[in-house]
Amino acid sequence: MIFAANWKMNIGPSEARRFAKAFVEAVPLQSRREIWFFPSAVTLTTTVKAFRDRPDIRCGVQDVHWAPDGAFTGAISVALAAASGATLALVGHSERRHLFGESDDETGKKVRAVLEGGLTPLLCVGETLEERERGDTMAVVLRQLEMALAGLEPEQIRRTVVAYEPVWAIGTGRTATPEDAARVHALIRASLVDWGATTPKVLYGGSVKPDNIVSLLAQHELDGVLVGGASLTTATWSSLVAKGVEARLTPQ
Ligand code: PEP
Repeated sequence: MIFAANWKMNIGPSEARRFAKAFVEAVPLQSRREIWFFPSAVTLTTTVKAFRDRPDIRCGVQDVHWAPDGAFTGAISVALAAASGATLALVGHSERRHLFGESDDETGKKVRAVLEGGLTPLLCVGETLEERERGDTMAVVLRQLEMALAGLEPEQIRRTVVAYEPVWAIGTGRTATPEDAARVHALIRASLVDWGATTPKVLYGGSVKPDNIVSLLAQHELDGVLVGGASLTTATWSSLVAKGVEARLTPQ
């Protein structure tokens, strides 16, 4: 099970140090789940260092450029991310797609670059409210998956983790029902298996909080969660992780 924290454009280095200190005290080392942090690029090295004694915690970047180097002001290559201690990269987050105009094709180039650079991509897919209301959820998710993963080797598909994040649920307080999320997860899982994955991992994201984590994780189609707002304080994030782990270990 994976609990992934997307800090977005929040939490600088000194706050990250304080966060990590309190978090490792509140959340003991455990082998049955991993915790992933996606800090801002300027906070990455500090976060990596702060969690260096915790093998259950991994850190990554929120975005990458697909080129190995060059004149791309403001962008970060996979090699630069890796050199700063990242072992993960978020790719195709809806804010990159919808606020920064990232195309399906660019998302695909980023996934390939991340895999070739030896990092684990966490590929985000999900429909907008308009697409959902038109009944296009499955078609949109499938198109985003196909465009992002086209031409990859089965070995690369096996290393890719996918997050289903309905755009209308991100930062809005609205979540997909656990049953709706599970239906989309099943489609994603089946596609990944068709393309060569053996035990695909599919996370859910979109206004996940300590008070809905238990009902979401009751759906065994969910292999974990990707969380924005509720990952920004040690109190909410540690409570969400603790409740999530307990939900999975306690038979329903
Ligand atoms: C996200 O940023 O990926 C996300 C799911 O945000 P939030 O949990 O705030 O909806």
